[in-house]
Amino acid sequence: MPFAPLHLDTPLVQTAPGYSVSGKPLWLKLDALQPSGSFKLRGVGRLCQHEVENGAREIFCASGGNAGIAAAYAGRALGVPVTIVVPETTAADVRQTIAATGANVLVHGSVFDEANAHAVDLARSRKATYVHPFDHPLLWDGHATLIDEVVAKSAKFDCVVTSVGGGGLLAGIVEGLKRNGLSDVPVIAVETEGAASLNASLKASERITLPAITSIANSLGARQVAQHVFDLPKQHPIESVVVSDADAVAACLKFADAQRILVEPACGAALAVVDVHAGLLQRFDNPLIEVCGGIGVSLEKLEAWKEKFL
Ligand SMILES: *Cc1c(COP(=O)(O)O)cnc(C)c1O
Repeated sequence: MPFAPLHLDTPLVQTAPGYSVSGKPLWLKLDALQPSGSFKLRGVGRLCQHEVENGAREIFCASGGNAGIAAAYAGRALGVPVTIVVPETTAADVRQTIAATGANVLVHGSVFDEANAHAVDLARSRKATYVHPFDHPLLWDGHATLIDEVVAKSAKFDCVVTSVGGGGLLAGIVEGLKRNGLSDVPVIAVETEGAASLNASLKASERITLPAITSIANSLGARQVAQHVFDLPKQHPIESVVVSDADAVAACLKFADAQRILVEPACGAALAVVDVHAGLLQRFDNPLIEVCGGIGVSLEKLEAWKEKFL
């Protein structure tokens, strides 16, 4: 028998009329309320379940944080040991949260790519299973459940706003739209300056590898998007936009006050579109914002970012 999904069917709420410039209410899909703190549990949980059903006895994953805690959560639920390789940029409290969920945490490399290469090597040498944080069809299949849930609630929406790192979430949203007969619903794909690998690639018409990640939104810090994600705009209407770190932080603060929920700047990026690209959003009557969440936030961190950027 297949396992029941590990993720929750999260709440879908509408903002108060004053939240957006247009006064139109926005749908918020509150994936910050997943037990792992972000949407990642949808896809990572799905992929880990599949691997365990197929005999995996040990799982390795590389992550800046949220895929790691999702894999740690999944491993604990499935009774399989998990090792997460994080880069040095992953904050100490995030490492502790992953460890407290029951995973081994290894620190390797200064950026995600180095941590990832190490996780792949370790898994190979130990004959263990390696789980990628954004580039796998089963991950996208898992992330797509967020659209299934919105559709099941009969909520009407005419665009989806999402943050983009390596693009797994974007791929999942497009898959969810497709399988629900909504291939005409555009997706607004948001990145921060200094982590905008999709935007740079679309401008150059080739898949770009950024020289470095300079944004504080480290959950968006994939230097290169997945090939499948680079190809998506040829199959689905996708609008790529960029916001600043300051925009993302301002959006986190506004969202915290309005909804009383803390989210990472990676998630603030999507929320920032409401103010920074208000003209773009006004083309739609019922935007749906994927509130992807993230554990890399606290009152103290928000306070420090506010000091620095606003
Ligand atoms: C992983 C993550 C993203 C980006 O997801 P991708 O699938 O890498 O595009 C955005 N926000 C948060 C909070 C994340 O954890």
